[in-house]
Amino acid sequence: IDLPADPILENTRRQVKEACFSFVSPKKTEKPEILHISPEMLGNLGLTLEDAKSEDFLNVFTGNTVLSNTNPYAMCYGGHQFGNWAGQLGDGRAINLFEVNQNNKQWAVQLKGAGETPYSRTADGLAVLRSSIREYLCSEAMHHLGVPTTRALSLALTGDKVLRDVLYDGHPAYEKGAVVCRVAPTFIRFGNFEILASRGDKNTLEALMEYTIKHFFSHLGKPSKETYLKFFEEVVNRSLEMVVHWQRVGFVHGVMNTDNMSVLGLTIDYGPYGWLEGYDRGWTPNTTDRQHKRYRYGSQPEIVLWNLYQLANVIYYLIEEAEELESILEAYKKDFAIAYHGMMKSKLGLYTNDNKDEILIRDLEEILELTETDMTLFFRNLNKFNSERPMDGLDVLKQALYVPTEVKGEIEKRWTEWFNRYSERLDKEIIPEKERKKQMNKVNPKYVLRNYMAQLAIDAADNGDYSLIQELFNLLKKPYEEQPKNEKWFAKRPEWARHKVGCSM
Ligand code: AMP
Ligand code: MG
Ligand code: MG
Repeated sequence: IDLPADPILENTRRQVKEACFSFVSPKKTEKPEILHISPEMLGNLGLTLEDAKSEDFLNVFTGNTVLSNTNPYAMCYGGHQFGNWAGQLGDGRAINLFEVNQNNKQWAVQLKGAGETPYSRTADGLAVLRSSIREYLCSEAMHHLGVPTTRALSLALTGDKVLRDVLYDGHPAYEKGAVVCRVAPTFIRFGNFEILASRGDKNTLEALMEYTIKHFFSHLGKPSKETYLKFFEEVVNRSLEMVVHWQRVGFVHGVMNTDNMSVLGLTIDYGPYGWLEGYDRGWTPNTTDRQHKRYRYGSQPEIVLWNLYQLANVIYYLIEEAEELESILEAYKKDFAIAYHGMMKSKLGLYTNDNKDEILIRDLEEILELTETDMTLFFRNLNKFNSERPMDGLDVLKQALYVPTEVKGEIEKRWTEWFNRYSERLDKEIIPEKERKKQMNKVNPKYVLRNYMAQLAIDAADNGDYSLIQELFNLLKKPYEEQPKNEKWFAKRPEWARHKVGCSM
């Protein structure tokens, strides 16, 4: 690492100035136990299943052994949380262990939940099994869905007890402690830059910019004003691509603060995230955001832009020219509209252009919201829609409805009318029906980590049964494929799970 480090080598909480990170020591745990390993990620790091069975693996990936010649560190970052500048945040419970270079790919390997760091503020630096299962399963599932994301190598119990306020009954309770090993080319976020600009620390900021460009954007050339703009433009484009994927699969991040925005455009920080069940642009999984719903599904694209404005301010501080930054930000709106439109067309199996497509899509978004309609089921089942029998559309729809009897009268009329238009529109496509359905199946997942599925895995794990983690992990490796044995996971959320979503701590 060629970046300025915090000179004090200890974990105590403090403001860390003129530095990008602090060296720290992971906490030793009582009785570490690996619960699951991602074989794909293991391979990416050049490790074998045999390696994974070793005592060394267990100790390294739970923070009990620090490999010689490595210097674990926590990064300093700030962030805008829910629209407000929050000052220094930093890796409060994430510790970067080391970096691995394998097959010309660079991976930063970090533990989440391995104890306090200078950035832990009022919290304990730990993670509970519940939130760790959610992060572990979801980040790998997102990868297999084709969504840019941080990855996970392993999920482990620490054997320690962790005190948490459980959101549903509100009573503090001890829970099982856990550690997830997360992996990404880098975990640098918008907030790493913001904290330095907010402190007027141009030197360190420039060092971080140079480091980031040299290691992760080297194709842009040597750092200069020009390169900073190109860097910003690429971050904009990657973030845009990421959020279009979120909208496509119905993923709602839930805490899109600037400290949770990766410069690589990776989905990062799986906290209170959730998946749309009923298609509802107003839905947020974050129970602390229920009033303003800043991070609801339908707002995610504009929040990405809001966050990009915060990063633009940092670049402005360095280059002192606003015009080009503004035009890059302006382009986001147009580019997003185009990308979103193309994505929605692909979900509907439309590949040619028709000037009425925009209305067709907008109307669909509206009627999907009239009654609770499961997003994943609806779009996946569209592959059963036959343009010669538009009336069958209602049957396709019914399988996705939470209360089928609600589709009657005016609502039924609107649906019938929509299916008629869709049918006429499909007739204008030239691609053979079979091929179209195949293509649609590649963008409309059959299996996603529904909120209740993660919850079932958590409940079983609390009772010492980890088999559902394995089952869901394997299921979600092939989200677009038909898996006849797993048809039970291609189903509406059961009624008991209606108001249950996970939480972040
Ligand atoms: P988040 O809302 O998850 O993005 O977290 C915001 C900030 O709180 C980050 O600086 C985190 O590192 C920190 N944080 C969250 N949970 C903990 C914890 N259990 N212990 C220490 N810091 C935490
Ligand atoms: Mg975070
Ligand atoms: Mg978090």
